[in-house]
Amino acid sequence: VIDGYGILFRRVLFPGWERGIRRRPTLEHLASLRRSQWFGADRLRALQSIGFERLLEHAYRNVPFYRKRMDEVGLRPEAIHGIEDLRSLPLLTREEARRSLAERSSTAPPLPEIKKTTSGTSGNPLPFAYDRGSEWFRQAVKLRGYGWAHYELGDQSLHYWGSSAAIVPPPALARAKIRLDHALKREHFVDCAVRSDASLRDLVVKIRQLRPKVLLCYAQAGAALARYVLDTGSELPGGMSVITAAERLFRRDREALTRAFGPDVFESYGSREFMLIASECDAHDGLHVSMENLIVELIVRDGGGLRAAEPGEVGEVVVTDLHNYGAPFIRYLNGDLATRVQSGRCACGRELDRLRSIEGRVSDTLRDAEGRSVSSLFFNVMFTALADKVSEFQVVQRRDGSIDLSVVPARGFDQDTLQIMRRSSAKYLAGVELRTHVVPEIPVEANGKLSMLKVER
Ligand SMILES: [Zn+2]
Repeated sequence: VIDGYGILFRRVLFPGWERGIRRRPTLEHLASLRRSQWFGADRLRALQSIGFERLLEHAYRNVPFYRKRMDEVGLRPEAIHGIEDLRSLPLLTREEARRSLAERSSTAPPLPEIKKTTSGTSGNPLPFAYDRGSEWFRQAVKLRGYGWAHYELGDQSLHYWGSSAAIVPPPALARAKIRLDHALKREHFVDCAVRSDASLRDLVVKIRQLRPKVLLCYAQAGAALARYVLDTGSELPGGMSVITAAERLFRRDREALTRAFGPDVFESYGSREFMLIASECDAHDGLHVSMENLIVELIVRDGGGLRAAEPGEVGEVVVTDLHNYGAPFIRYLNGDLATRVQSGRCACGRELDRLRSIEGRVSDTLRDAEGRSVSSLFFNVMFTALADKVSEFQVVQRRDGSIDLSVVPARGFDQDTLQIMRRSSAKYLAGVELRTHVVPEIPVEANGKLSMLKVER
């Protein structure tokens, strides 16, 4: 079947819009990424070195936070010769990143024009920003990664994940624009927080009608859908790819997805701060890192020092964004753990570094009054939407199923905030008794970590 609209969108509508009207280089970046993905490892590292030197030069001149940091360790940009010198820079913890957005913002163009927040898994939101140039790279990196999973611009896609618009709807004009954009790109969205049999049945009907090229889903939501499909013997259209995101894809979940949807199941790893960090290719042997846009290190703290993790050894993920000049992230510890694959050529022919088993993205599962599972990512989505009203939160589900939700108010907090929280929770956690508490702070656990979510079992 020839998909006329897909071809028209790819060849005419999207290029016309991006190049002609918006003057965005997304497609040039994509073409260049599709070439560089075949570079050998040495050439990829050389590319990273150039990007890294440029970034540090800019950061030293225009970003007060990094100028101070580099001065503290006596490092001048002229002394940086490629990514080998990355290790002489200190790490940026999430807490430091949280407190330093103003000082990490560039005082000269490119400025941090795009501002966002992520709730992360620790329960205290992180505000961050980046410039438009970085956005174009992000979009191109995403398109290339999704391309590995056989998705092309203009193909029908179904997104089965969390929706902040369901919690705090954007203003009418913004909503109309978003709807138009989704319609042109043929992106369809279904909120994955509700996983009743009725909603899964509706979703299967929708998939049969749309016949999407790709299903993008939170890993555990996709797995719940796959199990429903297998349990009910529902038939699905063939030729679909599944891309999982946001949560770790467990082996048993991948097996369920493969049995329900076929062999084209691809794990992806990303975050709000960087978008797509790594994604899987047809060889299904690890996730290729978006090396042209990001330097991803895996480090191990060893006797007071730091060293690179060995292949297969669990290390902390450290990310440097080569194109975010607006509010740079240099050696940022994002809180995830991962292992890497022994370097070398993948069966697909690419030498882009590969990650395997990314930990720390497991969202615990809550239960509604009927015992159905509800992803705790729902709370991440809700508090990302409420970032100006709530600075920290903690969810505790008790053995009797009731929930204690504690929040630390931020500047924009008001009585409406509690209403929104109660209304949204009632929608996703039907029948569950919810107690809300406004508190000055969330106590830290015995292990020194802030725990966003606890399920008493
Ligand atoms: Zn590969």
